[in-house]
Amino acid sequence: MNLRLAALALTPAGVFACASPVTPAPLPSPAPDTTRVVAQVPAPPDTMRSYAVPAFSSTPLITWGPMPPGTPHAERARVYDLRHQIVHVRFDWARHAVVGSTTIRLAALDKPLTTIPLDAVGMTIQKVSAPNGARLRYDYDGRTLTVKLPGTLRPRSTTSFVVDYESVKPKKGAYFIDRRHVVWTQGETEDNRYWVPTWDYPNDKTTWEFYIQTDTGEKALSNGALRGQRRVGNQVEWHWVLDQPNSTYLMTAVTGDYVVLQDKWRATPVGYWTYPDSVEATWRGMGKTPRMIELFSNRTGVAYPWVKYDQVNAPDYIFGGMENVTATTQADDDILHPAWAEPQANAEGLVSHELGHQWYGDYLTTRDWSHIWLNEGFATFMEQTWTEFGMSRDDGDVDRLGAQRETMEADRRARRPIVYDRWVTDPLELFFSGHIYPKGATILQMLRHQLGDSAFWQAMNRYTVQHAKGNVVSDDLRQAFEQVSGRDLKSFFDKWVYGAGFPVFQVSYTWDPATRGLTLDAREVQQRDSLTGFFDPDVDVEILTDAGAVQGVVQVRGGTAHATFPLPAEPRSIRWDKGNWLLDLADFPRPTVMLEYQLAHDDDVVGRLEAVDLLAARTDEPIAQRALVAATHDRSHYVRSVAVRALARQGSVQSVADAIIAATRDGDARVRQAAARALGSLRGSAASTRARELATSDSSLYVRGAALGSLPAIEGAASLDVIRAALAQDSWRDMLRRQAVGALGDVDSPEVFPLLTRYLGDSTQRDTRVTAIAVLVRRANAAGRQAEVAAAVTPLLDVEDDLFVRDAAARALGELKQPSSVAALEARRRVEAESRVVNTIDAALAALRAP
Ligand SMILES: [Zn+2]
Repeated sequence: MNLRLAALALTPAGVFACASPVTPAPLPSPAPDTTRVVAQVPAPPDTMRSYAVPAFSSTPLITWGPMPPGTPHAERARVYDLRHQIVHVRFDWARHAVVGSTTIRLAALDKPLTTIPLDAVGMTIQKVSAPNGARLRYDYDGRTLTVKLPGTLRPRSTTSFVVDYESVKPKKGAYFIDRRHVVWTQGETEDNRYWVPTWDYPNDKTTWEFYIQTDTGEKALSNGALRGQRRVGNQVEWHWVLDQPNSTYLMTAVTGDYVVLQDKWRATPVGYWTYPDSVEATWRGMGKTPRMIELFSNRTGVAYPWVKYDQVNAPDYIFGGMENVTATTQADDDILHPAWAEPQANAEGLVSHELGHQWYGDYLTTRDWSHIWLNEGFATFMEQTWTEFGMSRDDGDVDRLGAQRETMEADRRARRPIVYDRWVTDPLELFFSGHIYPKGATILQMLRHQLGDSAFWQAMNRYTVQHAKGNVVSDDLRQAFEQVSGRDLKSFFDKWVYGAGFPVFQVSYTWDPATRGLTLDAREVQQRDSLTGFFDPDVDVEILTDAGAVQGVVQVRGGTAHATFPLPAEPRSIRWDKGNWLLDLADFPRPTVMLEYQLAHDDDVVGRLEAVDLLAARTDEPIAQRALVAATHDRSHYVRSVAVRALARQGSVQSVADAIIAATRDGDARVRQAAARALGSLRGSAASTRARELATSDSSLYVRGAALGSLPAIEGAASLDVIRAALAQDSWRDMLRRQAVGALGDVDSPEVFPLLTRYLGDSTQRDTRVTAIAVLVRRANAAGRQAEVAAAVTPLLDVEDDLFVRDAAARALGELKQPSSVAALEARRRVEAESRVVNTIDAALAALRAP
């Protein structure tokens, strides 16, 4: 599963947040090498401190957040073994009803059974019958269907029965999207029980088949192989068979007016299900799938394990994608984009993530939700594998860096181990804290670096083969890795998987010109407790000198390290954790001239990005500012973008303003986007003219949108003409209008409130609506107009067909702090089925009730 990228796009886009394109950016002219000048010219007195080593930070680099709330949920105990399930289903558009009949074959485990409980929420059960038609008795309480067997089922013997049922307007599980006449379903975590009675928990694997009826002219997609289609009255019935066992949350049905673009990997059919009007964009979004399958098959040593691979575009989907075995569902607006939207728009991260799940998640499946990183951390790792080998080394490095940063932010909010079984309302809460996707992938990258690529992938192969078609827990992974590597990995798993946190270092160096020895001292200073101890890693270091680079390893033991490296010449820069393989924070004070050297000379993009970050805090030093200006010509667009962003915080020095304006002409639209945003830090006619040009005529709407966002800061209310023009324009994913709505948040004019209120209604695109709500709240809190905005937002709590709008409305009411909102929030809480919205409502109510 993957979160919607559209939702992420609402936050200011960081270069680290998203995958980047495979097309290399046009290279700018190389950076002028200013280092030699620094070395030869004696420093003027006002820059003496650029040569001094600063002190350690006076505050801790991170404070662990409290453990996430919730009660423990042990693995659900199995009571029978599901052997095969046949589902006949029809989607009744007139009533938005799922009309179904399912035949269930199961076996008793080691205890005799007289009743069979099935998960089945909010259904009408018409009858339960034996295969011979005899009626069976049952109880049904709206959540569990308890079938009473005619006799006692002896241990390990099998039985079967048929359930005829209906689910009218299911609250979850099956979604009717009228505007495209598409039905899609979503099982993970425990939602398939809203449209199919079944054992809805990952720890039992079964085969299944679907008979799905559609209107003529439409198609139905499900798992496994298409065995046939036939006319049934005025409908068509599609018969799909999954003959390899899987967990039932991976059941899927999608129906609609789809065309199927046929591709293949070796002899395996690969299909792209899309709308007739979106063929070209679908090839753009999905067309690299066979190359990804090839890469993953080669790396894991396990050839793609299923009979076919289909991906389907789903409208108004509630996640980015879902890895339903052999039949992945993906949000159409995350896949389909016009050519101009690249490189920012890019579906490769999503496509490779869901494909990675076909091995990790589907072929091997977590046994219970507390080990969900074995699905999601692995899929994220496979996504990173594509980024590194299918795109570029820089992209891979930045992808890993982004995952590390998300992981550290996660511990800042709420520290927890990767393996964790506490949640409040839904196991989905475990997924998106940052400890599963990015931290899971980061831990695998650390193992990869420690064992080396060859042993690592051999171990991955062992794990994959050993547990093929089975359920797994984290210790299965440890054992497979120990068998292959011959190492004891208990301590690694105890610290990184079952423990929490990560190391925080204070690092210092001394250079002895007499012996030409560089000594590094390091100390782990993270808060320690029962969950977090010393990590004692081996850390790669690199020292650059004018006579070449020196690499080494610093071994931290008992929380400290002391290591000396002989150098051929004095150190010009020092990298702690060269290559950035370790999940850590390091407070490593170095003189500004060292950072300048690192920015100009480090061959690894992460080292140059680190230098930009540190220099950005020292721009009152001319050397730092000069280095950042030079970095706007770095060969990597990542460095150019981050340098521009750092310069934007520097006030109005002419050389800085010139560099920002020059960067708005960069050949890479990502850098132009960062520069367009940085324009907002400048004042005067040059910035204003350039922002207007970009906002109205750049070839990328990402750049135009960013420039729109900058205009109010430069021009104030005078920018309203450009913003109004953008509000009137339809564009792909409503990008211009959404950015214009965002820009209104910074304009001081009586027109702003009525303009924003216009975009709350259901004629507005989802993301624009969500942006309008957020901007209105911010303005209302600043202007003391909370009551009025709360009244406008409250009805949005009941927008049944869009959980993102309900979620934004609930969040808004919490932030507006009107006591009168409590009743509306409580009323919605009673009927809300989406756990994400329930949790937002709970947070809003807590905020309203706080003193
Ligand atoms: Zn996933």
